[in-house]
Amino acid sequence: MPDDNINSWEGRADARSFYGFTDLPTIHERGAVIVTHGEGPYIIDVHGNRYLDANSGLWNMVAGFDHPGLTEAAKAQYDRFPGYHAFFGRMSDQTVMLSEKLVEVSPFAEGKVFYTNSGSEANDTMVKMLWFLWAAEGQPQRRKILTRKNAYHGVTAVSASMTGKPYNSVFGLPLDGFLHLTCPHYWREGRDGETEAEFTARLGRELEEVIAREGAETIAGFFAEPVMGAGGVIPPSEGYFQTIAPILKKHGIPLISDEVITGFGRTGETWGCETYDFMPDAIISSKNLTAGFFPMGAVILGPELSDRLQAASEAIEEFPHGFTASGHPVGCAIALKAIDVIMNEGLAENVRALTPKFEAELARLAEHPHIGEWRGKGLMGALEAVADKPTKTPFDGSLSVSERIANACTDQGLICRPLGQSIVLCPPFIMTEAQMDEMFGKLEAALDKVFAEVT
Ligand SMILES: *Cc1c(COP(=O)(O)O)cnc(C)c1O
Repeated sequence: MPDDNINSWEGRADARSFYGFTDLPTIHERGAVIVTHGEGPYIIDVHGNRYLDANSGLWNMVAGFDHPGLTEAAKAQYDRFPGYHAFFGRMSDQTVMLSEKLVEVSPFAEGKVFYTNSGSEANDTMVKMLWFLWAAEGQPQRRKILTRKNAYHGVTAVSASMTGKPYNSVFGLPLDGFLHLTCPHYWREGRDGETEAEFTARLGRELEEVIAREGAETIAGFFAEPVMGAGGVIPPSEGYFQTIAPILKKHGIPLISDEVITGFGRTGETWGCETYDFMPDAIISSKNLTAGFFPMGAVILGPELSDRLQAASEAIEEFPHGFTASGHPVGCAIALKAIDVIMNEGLAENVRALTPKFEAELARLAEHPHIGEWRGKGLMGALEAVADKPTKTPFDGSLSVSERIANACTDQGLICRPLGQSIVLCPPFIMTEAQMDEMFGKLEAALDKVFAEVT
């Protein structure tokens, strides 16, 4: 650490705070960045350094770090009614209004909403809903959950079991009955000579085979992010959802769209399922739901699952599940404002307006001999570093190439995220063209520096 004085902010952070999902060698060398506040898409640290946050915090601060309408909505609700639950037949007026709004802006004609404090809890809740309603309908053996390798659905024991990342093995996860299918990433998973259409068809056959092997009568549901986020920003292969959705339907397996990142405009439409033109049975929302101004998640059930969950609950007179802060009035007031800001104050429009430039810049940087692929949708994108481009051979892991690129960005006042061998960009929806130029200019300098060092 540059300054290991225990009285420094960095030293104090290190002494008493446990870091999650943090590269510890980087911390030992550089110390943490301790942030005091933000201005638009920038964050400012305790030393007064400014950083353009190209990841919107953690994908979620889409309206920037100081949106006055959102802080006003929070303050006003704290003055009116600062906290309540949604148990025992009571809930806040804000909760009622947010549920109406969420169904209105959802792709569903009818539906119902259940609240959590996070995306992980929303996925856990959805799994419990499926287990509960299948059991109530006389199919208690329908418990297996299908997801994909590289999927990210959260960190609680169930949602981590759904997450298809190797690091979960350190916890002895996944739990039994959580099955991971092939990641729909054509560039990495496609075989020699296989076209993208053939690749997608192969994934369809794999799904059929897994269902045949396990038995449809043992499978509770299939969860998918429209674009995988924490897996490295991986859009599905061409026709993927059109291939898998009918197979799931034929076997009566609900399709759940985990829209924690893609919800509310990230891919250019309100929902990722609209961008990719499929109709899920339920949607999982969090992150952008409050533009990051409050911890909140939501399960939005479409009409069929709503009715089925309602019937299962009526049969035992309740749905025995909920969190103390489910449907928190301040969170709901903020979410109502965030949805309004995103949809009606030009933010969603700005995503669509900036996308062509974003894609063109990613494509330009992908001409670099050590960038194997650029990929993305709307304002989420990734550049994947490779040691050898023709063979797509990754750099030796010990070189920590993506961490070094991210650190070289931080040194210039740009925050971007290393994910595997990729660098991920997920800028806030309020970004301007000038800020986008700043982002790509700094990233390019970092790429040049690090690739010169490692080759
Ligand atoms: C972040 C994320 C989650 C988990 O949300 P938390 O609020 O961190 O629990 C779930 N699904 C997806 C797609 C995510 O990106």
